This record gives sequence, structure tokens and C-alpha cells, in this order.
Amino acid sequence: MTDLSVFFAGTAGSVPTARRGLPAVLVRRGGARLLFDCGEGTQRQLLRSVGLADLDYVFLTHHHVDHWLGLLGMVKSFALRDREQPLVVYGPPGTEKLMGAMGGVIGRLPYPFEVVDLAAGDALDFDDGFSVEAFNVRHRGTAFGYALVEQARPGRFDAERAAASLASSSLVCGPALAPIEPEMSIPITSARLARRRSCLRSNDTGEISSSGVFA
Ligand SMILES: [Zn+2]
Repeated sequence: MTDLSVFFAGTAGSVPTARRGLPAVLVRRGGARLLFDCGEGTQRQLLRSVGLADLDYVFLTHHHVDHWLGLLGMVKSFALRDREQPLVVYGPPGTEKLMGAMGGVIGRLPYPFEVVDLAAGDALDFDDGFSVEAFNVRHRGTAFGYALVEQARPGRFDAERAAASLASSSLVCGPALAPIEPEMSIPITSARLARRRSCLRSNDTGEISSSGVFA
């Protein structure tokens, strides 16, 4: 997993305390900024710490007011900053209806504002190689948890490392190395085994199974 930060902007439940804001968690993964829940006061919690980033996506866990009331003020703050990039709000069934009912409070926004109802099991794929998956949690009424799931990144075959690995053996680099794919093994008669992971570039190996062998 690369380039991931999680900032707990609010960890109080139902009512804020002097030291804790209402629920909100900011996740930055690659170039994406995702906020999970947006309790009352989340703007100030962010401003006094990491700053009020131009969020791309907001995920609501459920519709109890302590988990979303801060969103109304936040979207207006974005408008006052002449935001132009879209903001998408995801949530359990009924989120569209809930935000629709707030339309008179939110008013006109200078940027695209989209609200999408999710179903448990829905998975949203993001460009940076991860997805967010919604799953049911036990609470009063429908409520979701969200899993940030890293997509498999098997790495790229590194011919130089493969050659170096074989250099000390009696094996000869040849065309058979060229088509190696991450989950493939090719038969080369030798008592010497080299693990496939030793021939993958280290900077993009991600989660690599070490079960494969290439020689
Ligand atoms: Zn609740």
C-alpha cells in the first residue's frame, strides 16, 4: 500500500466534547481525498489541523444527524471559494432523498454536486488502484461501513534482475524469460530455484505472492 494517510477529524459519538469533534475521518490515498462522515464542526476540525482540503468524495455511514450535519456548511464553504471541481456524496439508500430535502438549505452551488445511493456490496473503483466497498454494519437503521481495498499489483517483470539471478548459475538467459507473467512459471531444468518475487521491481511490487518460481 502506498501513499495513504488517515486523519481522524472527529471521534466523539452523538455529542461533541471539548476535545473531540463529531464523526469524520479524512483519507488521502494517492491523489484522492475522501471524507467518511461529516459531523457538525468537521470544517473547523480540519481547518485547525490539516486544512480544509477540496474533497473529492464524501461517504456517509448512515443518516443520523451527528454523522452528516457538517456537510451542509462545508459544501457552502466550497462554494464561497469558487470551487469548480465536482463533489460526490455516497451513502446508504435514502441519501439522495436526504440531501434532496436539504436542497433549500444548500441552495445553488457553482460546482457539480452529485449524491449517489449505494447498496451493501457495492464497490467503487478509483484510478489510483484501490476501491471503496460498502458493507452493512449493525446499528439502528441501515448503516454502512466502508472498506478501502487495495487492488492487486503484481509488479513488473525485471529482466535485469532475472539475468543477475541466473548469472551465477549454469542457466542461460534466453527467450523463455521474456513472456513471464506474474503468476506464470516456466520449466527450466535446474535444481536451483529462484523465487519469482526476486525478479519483480521493488518499487511497484505491492502485494506479491512468493509462491511462484521461474526456474
Ligand atoms: Zn447513529
